[in-house]
Amino acid sequence: MQTAGKKDTKPPKPLPPPNSDFYQLAETLPPDELATLRQVRSFMESKVAPIINKYWVEDSFPFELLPGIKDLNLGGLGIQGYGCRGGSALLAGLVAMEMARTDASIATFFGVHNGLAMGSINLAGSEEQKKKWLPPMARFEKIGCFALTEPLVGSGTSGGLMTTAKKEGDTWVLNGQKKWIGNSPWCDISIIWARDVADNQVKGFIVENKTTPGFSVEKIQNKFALKVVQNGLITLKDVRLPEENHLQAGAQTFRDTARVLRQTRYGVAWEATGCQMGAFEHTLKYAQERLQFGKPIGSFQLIQDLLAKMLANVTACQCLVVRTAQLDDQGKMTDAQAALSKAFTTAKCRETVAWGREIFGGNGISIDYSIGRYFTDAEALISYEGTSQMQNLILGKAISGLSAFV
Ligand SMILES: Cc1cc2nc3c(=O)[nH]c(=O)nc-3n(C[C@H](O)[C@H](O)[C@H](O)COP(=O)(O)OP(=O)(O)OC[C@H]3O[C@@H](n4cnc5c(N)ncnc54)[C@H](O)[C@@H]3O)c2cc1C
Repeated sequence: MQTAGKKDTKPPKPLPPPNSDFYQLAETLPPDELATLRQVRSFMESKVAPIINKYWVEDSFPFELLPGIKDLNLGGLGIQGYGCRGGSALLAGLVAMEMARTDASIATFFGVHNGLAMGSINLAGSEEQKKKWLPPMARFEKIGCFALTEPLVGSGTSGGLMTTAKKEGDTWVLNGQKKWIGNSPWCDISIIWARDVADNQVKGFIVENKTTPGFSVEKIQNKFALKVVQNGLITLKDVRLPEENHLQAGAQTFRDTARVLRQTRYGVAWEATGCQMGAFEHTLKYAQERLQFGKPIGSFQLIQDLLAKMLANVTACQCLVVRTAQLDDQGKMTDAQAALSKAFTTAKCRETVAWGREIFGGNGISIDYSIGRYFTDAEALISYEGTSQMQNLILGKAISGLSAFV
């Protein structure tokens, strides 16, 4: 209070720092797993955040971060044995969320290697295949990708894969193309899904990218989302593989592919939740600092309405994915539950990042303010690992008992 002749020297009350874990969900982890999560946050904030916009602009992958990622000792997170990190589904999810809170591309790089590539070998590989491939992948000595989508077949992969696998004696011969494959322009191992011409079933194969004749990759250029992830168009021309490279325990039909996708699509739900957290925190900080009409824009009612709705979206998504992980940890998660989580969180993510971008005004379209990165990355999350329409068709079939798939 100011009295005549005497100035009030009391400093202004400090504003609360942005906190996107409003219901303290990270604290539901046991202390050792919480410590891992804190380590991931520290790495993402100190090493990734300062450099990621530069790589986003350049459309390139920050290889300089790989030693630090390796040191986090997260290889094989959620996979038990075979030199893998192990840990609960909840920890694996919260790590994906934490990575995406800083950058969805880094979360995607990790999710493709750990969830899709290692996950396929873990779910569909034989004991020998797991012993051979998982330990070097857990140590990040070999990086993997997962190749299902094709130039002409995306949503319809369950019935229409055009890449073929033909058995000739003890050798499989693969021909075809795979599009959009994350990490493929530079990684070491591809999990290739192909249709066996003998029984028309989809089967999985492990291909060593750098040493297999007939295997080539072209980097996909001119993306505007997840620009840091390198996506490729793979061409397989008479690629010859021994039977030991055919995923042997499962991977005899598309049902095995779907088992992998069930896990990883709700991994995308975690990423979509993290992407919103980062957008919310950047936006709130900006709203606290940016002055218009002589006041912080965060003090305007219409801005507070948007901030409150952003945090409500974030929190609803967090509660949903935490429950999905609990079901997963109990071995009870269904395809429809994973599909609902992916469809809902990505839709809310699109809404949240758009409100954030709006609050940044003109600065919202400059990459220098980061919010544009969250805004564009959200678009890729909507489409990959099954579009929203595909997720809702899976859910619709489960709840109605009626299939609307064509
Ligand atoms: C950044 C990025 C990374 C990716 N990474 C990988 C990867 O690592 N590995 C991999 O295998 N794939 C990857 N993909 C591919 C991704 O999974 C596909 O893009 C996705 O499954 C959709 O397939 P599509 O693009 O061919 O779209 P389409 O299948 O052609 O669909 C186009 C539109 O039609 C709708 N549609 C299709 N069928 C129906 C229907 N029956 N009813 C209603 N609507 C329908 C879709 O929902 C969509 O809106 C990636 C994609 C992106 C963008």
